[in-house]
Amino acid sequence: MRLDRFLCETTDLTRSLAKKALHREEVQVNGEVVKNPATQVDEQSRVVWNGERLALVGLRYVMLHKPAGVECSARRGLYPLVRELVDLPHLERLQTVGRLDVDTTGLVLLTDDGQWSHRVTSPKRHWGKVYRVTLAEPLEGDALDTAVSGFAEGLMLDGEEKPTRPAQLAMRSSHVAELTLFEGKYHQVKRMFAAIGHHVVALHRESIGPLSLGELAPGAWRELTEDEVALF
Ligand code: URA
Repeated sequence: MRLDRFLCETTDLTRSLAKKALHREEVQVNGEVVKNPATQVDEQSRVVWNGERLALVGLRYVMLHKPAGVECSARRGLYPLVRELVDLPHLERLQTVGRLDVDTTGLVLLTDDGQWSHRVTSPKRHWGKVYRVTLAEPLEGDALDTAVSGFAEGLMLDGEEKPTRPAQLAMRSSHVAELTLFEGKYHQVKRMFAAIGHHVVALHRESIGPLSLGELAPGAWRELTEDEVALF
């Protein structure tokens, strides 16, 4: 690839700042100062900028146990970003695969591979996302039967044009439900329970398709193995 593109991919420099760095003779390729932005380089080239060896990073795939109080967005707002918990270079390139609300805990995937992210989230792929949902009031008896069949058939949520896709509901105790969704609409779990008159007091995502948190502690992260990446 061109040297100016290589500099953009491996640093925070924009294309014009990369050209300026070249012009100022700050860049060496294989021990020689190079000023021409069109110079061709590859992974074997030893590119050094201001004394720092630059290397292309491959695509990254991360699972993280999101604690409450961190945000899954691309830009920092009121809360720290989920990706700031990860210790990898070029964090700005890591995007979360779907989102959890700031108060929701549990499994979040991050990657810089947009196609993989799409394969994980596309409803056509039918990957179930399992949530543990703690309710303010018990859900039992006839109300539970109605909820199970309503969620299985699909609910019309306010502001949506189509009903929710069939979802699976089971109770683990009077106040704790397990809900499996095959899509990800905005605040979907909370809105589905609100639609049947229940308030969610805690929400935790346990798994996405074949991936679950396992022993990962809140706030901890790890890179996925090649086999795990290949599952999607
Ligand atoms: N549904 C919600 O309501 N919130 C989440 O964070 C995830 C799913």
